[in-house]
Amino acid sequence: MTDSRGPGEGWQHVVYAVDTYTCTTCGEPWCSIHQDHYADCPCIGPDEDSVQYCEHHVPGSGVGFQYGRRIRYKLMRQRRDGSLGPLFINRSRRISVGEWMDAEDHPTKGYAHRPGWHVVLQPYAPHLSMRGRVWMCVAVTGYEEFERPERQGGKWLLAQRMIVLGGLNDELHTSS
Ligand SMILES: [Zn+2]
Ligand SMILES: [Zn+2]
Repeated sequence: MTDSRGPGEGWQHVVYAVDTYTCTTCGEPWCSIHQDHYADCPCIGPDEDSVQYCEHHVPGSGVGFQYGRRIRYKLMRQRRDGSLGPLFINRSRRISVGEWMDAEDHPTKGYAHRPGWHVVLQPYAPHLSMRGRVWMCVAVTGYEEFERPERQGGKWLLAQRMIVLGGLNDELHTSS
C-alpha cells in the first residue's frame, strides 16, 4: 500500500455525520455529494455492518485516513479441488481470491444476455440449492442495481469488476 491517493480500487473515504451539511428542511445530516440525507446516501459511515474497513497512511506524512468498501455476496460453485467458479455461465472460469477480475461476456442459451458479475446484498438465495456451493464475500466496482422478488433474494448488482475477499466466516474487518 504505497499509493498516496488511497488504499486502492474499490475503497472510499469513510464519511462521518459531522462532516456533512444540515438539511434545511428537516435538520438531519445532509450529504452534498449525493444530494440526499446522509442516512440514505451511499456514503460509508464509521461503523456499518457489511463494510470492510482499513486505515491508509499517506506515505511520509504521518496522516492516516479511514476507508471502507461494502461487502457483497456471491454464491459460487466449489469444485472438488477447492477452486471456485461461477454457478451457471462460463462455468470453467476459475475465480481467485484477493484479485480484481473483469467480467467477461459469454452469451449463454437460456439466460438473459447481461454481461457482468452477479452479486447480492445479503447471503440469501432460498430459490437456489446450496449443494456444492459456497457463499463468498466480495467487493465490486462499476455496477448497476436491479430489483427482484424478496423470495429470490431481493436487490442484486451487476458489476464490471469484482474481488473475492474471503468466506462468510472470515475476519474481513482488517486494518492495514
Ligand atoms: Zn431533510
Ligand atoms: Zn453521501
